[in-house]
Amino acid sequence: MIQLAELTYGFHSLEPHVTAATLQAHHEKHHAGYVKRVNELIVGTPFERATLDDIVGFAGGALYDAAAQARNHELYFRSMSPEGGGKPPARLVKAVEDCFGTFAALKQEFTKAATEHFGSGWCWLAQERSGALRVVTTHDAANPVRDRLHPLLACDLWEHAYYLDYQSDRAWYLDAWWTVVNWAFAEERLQ
Ligand code: MN
Repeated sequence: MIQLAELTYGFHSLEPHVTAATLQAHHEKHHAGYVKRVNELIVGTPFERATLDDIVGFAGGALYDAAAQARNHELYFRSMSPEGGGKPPARLVKAVEDCFGTFAALKQEFTKAATEHFGSGWCWLAQERSGALRVVTTHDAANPVRDRLHPLLACDLWEHAYYLDYQSDRAWYLDAWWTVVNWAFAEERLQ
């Protein structure tokens, strides 16, 4: 059995950037739905007592899709914070400047990748085994660990993440997302 990770902030606390209506449906319907699906699909498989990370790492088919979506949403909700935006912590600044030159360059590359990504999926700030940081997008449920990348930040590009608040305007959603981005979480995850 895997558990639904609780939000670390209230439904209203990211407003006006992410409304309570969006956040509540996203956590209680979408994220919770993927967790429920994983728990249905692991019955009678070698994954019954596995961790979510192990399922994401080794499962295939429908179980992989549900497990990756469960993990991606955990990372997504932690990638935002009421104390987000603002000035990134020093260790992250160094890693970003080494790889992108400036924070502005990272944000520009990330925003471009996210807005140009076709269809549903995710945009990530991820770390290679070498330590280098990269911006990548993945389709549908895919999680970058399957490409040997360690996720630092996740941005949900499925329309359910922004349609209520921004309709089809993904670029507007990205603008809002940067104002709540949880740099401290990205720094904690640096390897
Ligand atoms: Mn989602």
